[in-house]
This record gives sequence, C-alpha cells and structure tokens, in this order.
Amino acid sequence: KLRKEETLRRGLHNAIQELKGNIRVFCRVRPLGQADEAAMLPIRLPTCEDNNEIELTQTSENALGRSTSKTFPFKFDRVFESESTQEAVFEEVSQLIQSALDGYPVCIFAYGQTGSGKTHTMQGPDALSANDMDSSVLGVIPRAVKQIYENTSKLAERGWEYSLEGQFLEIYNETIQDLLAPATRNSQNGEKQTKLDIYQDSEGHTRVKNVTTVNVDSAGRVHWLLARAAENRTVAATNCNERSSRSHSVFTLYLRGKNSLTGESSSGVLNLIDLAGSERLSSSGSSGDRLKETQAINKSLACLGDVIAALAKGNRHIPYRNSKLTHLLQESLGAGNSKTLMFVCVNPSPSSSQESLCSLQFATKVNSCQIGTARRQGAT
Ligand code: ADP
Ligand code: MG
Repeated sequence: KLRKEETLRRGLHNAIQELKGNIRVFCRVRPLGQADEAAMLPIRLPTCEDNNEIELTQTSENALGRSTSKTFPFKFDRVFESESTQEAVFEEVSQLIQSALDGYPVCIFAYGQTGSGKTHTMQGPDALSANDMDSSVLGVIPRAVKQIYENTSKLAERGWEYSLEGQFLEIYNETIQDLLAPATRNSQNGEKQTKLDIYQDSEGHTRVKNVTTVNVDSAGRVHWLLARAAENRTVAATNCNERSSRSHSVFTLYLRGKNSLTGESSSGVLNLIDLAGSERLSSSGSSGDRLKETQAINKSLACLGDVIAALAKGNRHIPYRNSKLTHLLQESLGAGNSKTLMFVCVNPSPSSSQESLCSLQFATKVNSCQIGTARRQGAT
C-alpha cells in the first residue's frame, strides 16, 4: 500500500511539473536604491491576472534632439515586482526543491547585471549572521535546505532515509575553486586558492576532484556553510563584492534516498547558481586581468545560453565543454528529466535600462527553450 501511495504521489507531482514545462523563467525586479530618481522609470508591470508580464521603455534622443521612446513587452512564467518578499518568491520555487528530493536533477540560476538582486535572491544579505537564520531576509539556498531537511524528517516516517551532501564552488576566470575548503588550505599559498578539476567517475558521473563535501545533517548547517564560503571569498580577494560579481557560485546538494520498507531508491541533485554579473563589459577599455575576466564571463554566459538552446533543439552535440560552468552542470542540465529555472533579475533604475533590456532579451531566449519531450502547453 505504501508503495502504491508513493507511486501515485510522484505520478501526480510529475504531471503537474510537465504541464509547466521543464525550463521556466521568473523575472524579479529589485526595489529602487535610495539614490535613484523615481520619475520616469523604464520598467512597468502591466496589471494582468497571471503576474507574468513586464514592459521596458527605452528613451533616447534622435539627431534633432527630439526624444523618442520604444517599449519592449516581455512575458515570462512569473514576474515578481519590487515589493515581493523572499517568502513569496520561495513559494514559487518550493515545488522544484521537492522535485530534487524526488530524484530529479534541478538547476536554479540567477542571471542579471551586478546589483540587480541575484545574491539577494539566492542567498539573502551578503553577511548572514546566525540570528538571521529564521528571518524573512533569507534567500533560496537557506530556505531550500530548510525545506529539504523538514521533508526528509517527514519522509522518514514512510521508510525513507536520505543522505544530503553539499558542495559549494566558485568559478572565476574559468578555474574552479572550493568555497568550503578549510580556510588554512586556501590561505597557504597566499591569494592563490586550490584549483579543482572536473572528472568523470567510474559510473560516468561528472564530479570535481578533491572537492570538500559537507554532510548537511541539520537545517542549521547551512549557516555554517554560507559563512565559510564568505570567509573563503574574503581570503581570496581584496574586494569581496567586486570578486563575487565576476565569478559564478554554484551550491550543489546531492540528495540520495533509500526506502527501507519498499526497497525504492532515489537520487536527485539540486544546483543553486549565482551567476557572474551579465553587464556587457567592453573589451576595448580593459586590459590585463580585467580583460581576461571579461572574456571569461562573456564566454561562459554565452555558452550557458548555447547549451540550453542546443538541448532544446535536440542537437546531437551539446557544447558543454566550452565552459567550466556548463561542464560542471552537464549531467543536471542534460538529463532527460532535468528541471531548470532561471531568475532574471533587473534593476528598475533608468541608468540600468540598457542592461535590463539585454537581460530580458537573454531570458526570453532561454524561455523559448524546452528540453526533452515535455513541450509547453499553451502560453504559460
Ligand atoms: P547582485 O548579486 O545581482 O550583484 P545584490 O543581490 O547584491 O545584487 O543586490 C544589490 C543590493 O540591492 C543589495 O544591497 C541588496 O540587499 C539589495 N537588494 C536586491 N534585491 C533586493 C530586494 N528584492 N529587496 C531588497 N533589497 C534588495
Ligand atoms: Mg552578487
């Protein structure tokens, strides 16, 4: 009977997921900063029942000094206005977290220019203190871990036992670094952190050599984990914010479950990715390290778009190896049953309108992709 119930529960869950499509895009607009001029905002959210539309108006002056404006409408699976709370955003994500627990590979990305709210969405405030762990400011990572931990406790009553192993990596200039390595290991050689390599294990899984994995055996463990990651970032950079805006961070949780009553097992992966700032950095003005960083970011963000598009087209060759990020996520992105969500974060200030437009256009491309057989039904 237990087995039947379990199968039914999962079947229903899958049916709901398939209807929604396996790639989804949510747009989140951050609040205006204090210094921003509230007049003439380029971003408008038309009132619509589904909260899934956003318009961006670009105003420019023509040669005669006359100002002209053009409005670009966009539609995503969901648009969150600037007053949306962390809780409201997480509510729309929590089903995907459940999917990882049910054995699916899941990727959740935050895409957008620096300052658009990616880290706020994925993690919460930059420096979380232990007191914050129950607070309303928490982002997707701590909320996801909390939900998973609570659900595994409940599932234990039905015979499920889970192991939850976490790793936290940073990809900077196309090198992979371990954000959970003991601080001493990272500081030994001064600024240079240990660089890690990707390899294929004996079962063909993509893994990272010598990576630190942490048993996420309590909901509170995530605070320790985020704190250590923050510490490692500080060791590695003179300007922590600057550094984090130029690197991707990838939090991965492996969820392996075994049911002692039914003999079933499941193996899911949850990847939560805070991408490097998407701002167009002109190569012409940069040189040296800056130029190298710029090229690495442009390349890996473009490659992410290419991989998603190639998967959607069903191409035989998927260019995973063109960037460390897609290589690392190869299994999660490419599996037939994988689920992907991209947050496109936008800053509503007038000075950001060009970057916001670029971000919304990138997200629209991603939104038009569906991987595997689950085609989107209708418009939503
Ligand atoms: P990014 O990671 O994209 O560079 P951040 O998440 O660091 O951007 O956000 C930049 C600033 O804006 C931070 O001070 C952050 O706290 C604030 N911020 C971003 N989004 C929100 C939001 N939805 N509500 C309140 N503050 C936000
Ligand atoms: Mg950030």
